[in-house]
Amino acid sequence: MVHRSLTVLGATGSIGLSTLDVVRRHPERFSVYALTAGTRAEELATLCREFKPQVAVMADAAAARKLAALLSDLPEVSVLSGEKGLCEVASASASCTVMAAIVGAAGLAPTLAAVRAGKRVLLANKEALVMSGQLFMDAVSASGAELLPVDSEHNAIFQCLPAEKVRDPEGAGITRILLTASGGPFRQCSAEDLHSVTPSQACAHPNWSMGQKISVDSATLMNKGLELIEACWLFNTTPERIEVHVHPESIIHSMVEYADGSVLAQLGSPDMRTPIANGLAWPERIDAGVAPLDLFTIGRFNFERPDLLRFPCLRLAADAFKEGGTAPTVLNAANEVAVEAFLRGNLAFTDIPVVIERTLSVTPVVPADSFDIIFSKNAEARQRAQEQIGLLAV
Ligand code: NAD
Ligand code: MG
Repeated sequence: MVHRSLTVLGATGSIGLSTLDVVRRHPERFSVYALTAGTRAEELATLCREFKPQVAVMADAAAARKLAALLSDLPEVSVLSGEKGLCEVASASASCTVMAAIVGAAGLAPTLAAVRAGKRVLLANKEALVMSGQLFMDAVSASGAELLPVDSEHNAIFQCLPAEKVRDPEGAGITRILLTASGGPFRQCSAEDLHSVTPSQACAHPNWSMGQKISVDSATLMNKGLELIEACWLFNTTPERIEVHVHPESIIHSMVEYADGSVLAQLGSPDMRTPIANGLAWPERIDAGVAPLDLFTIGRFNFERPDLLRFPCLRLAADAFKEGGTAPTVLNAANEVAVEAFLRGNLAFTDIPVVIERTLSVTPVVPADSFDIIFSKNAEARQRAQEQIGLLAV
């Protein structure tokens, strides 16, 4: 058994807490080197008391002061702040494994720091990979980091591939990847009714309990669009070889089709602790605390094609990947800004794809030659997306 010392980026989030729940079940196997959070100092303080990390990091200095005050009786935990602190714990030699579970573009710099330091990186933060694609994968190859997918679909695909051919679909004899999608809470909602859906309806996912941003992404199908791009990079393939299957039961987490007609699938209860435990212990298998699958209760599996007219985000994402360069960076940034505006009540649900499409059309695409270009395009696209939201509100 390999002992692993972990850094959990985004420890207070949905994935972070599920990770710590798996860790809690295996004290002999895992120890926690560092925990990080955005602004919720009280929640991180509670986790620090239980997991006793050496370092805790908050996204800004004010939150870090608050955390330090809350932990004044635990001087053995050092408290850091900001992107510098996040990158420091992500690359520290005292931990070998990093759970990348910060939401959105804010996760890119620390996730990249872990990759460059050659860690085992458990990738939940799909936005980091979508934003920087080839550069991110080149950094993985250069450092020899072990990149393991946590996103349930990608973890399923990973489990259905021969371990030595994860990035060689032709060599593995793969003809298609069947990427499953739940369809989200508005799968059966009419186009007219979609206009007036609320943030709380969008966040009430039928099968998964997740952070707000990914819940809205699941409702618009942008999550599947981001996942399509994520799959292209992780498994070295193209959108033409990936077919999205809406599968409302969320039991089959994705499938891989081979040249001989075999289709391999990974099944399980919709519980992120399964792919998290798979990545944490890989290639071993450990108890994740997940309820066994009861197929008699589930009864049947259904499949539908995605409706790209009601959910244009999936098409926008596939087109951005095909366009290449910084187009996926802009797509991701505009989506983040539009989702935040929707959650604040400042944008209609159906205007999320409108903002993304308009931002893409006013932001020139350039070759994605360096991380500096990625970071500056991200900032530029966020500003342009804000402007588009302003124009829609008038
Ligand atoms: P969440 O909102 O529940 O948690 C996000 C975490 O990131 C929190 O700990 C928060 O404090 C931290 N954070 C937010 N902004 C930050 C900032 N600017 N700087 C530093 N830290 C910051 O989100 P989640 O649902 O856990 O999702 C995390 C990532 O995992 C996302 O990229 C999401 O797409 C991906 N993912 C989530 C699920 C799921 O089931 N929740 C499934 C697959 C993939
Ligand atoms: Mg997923």
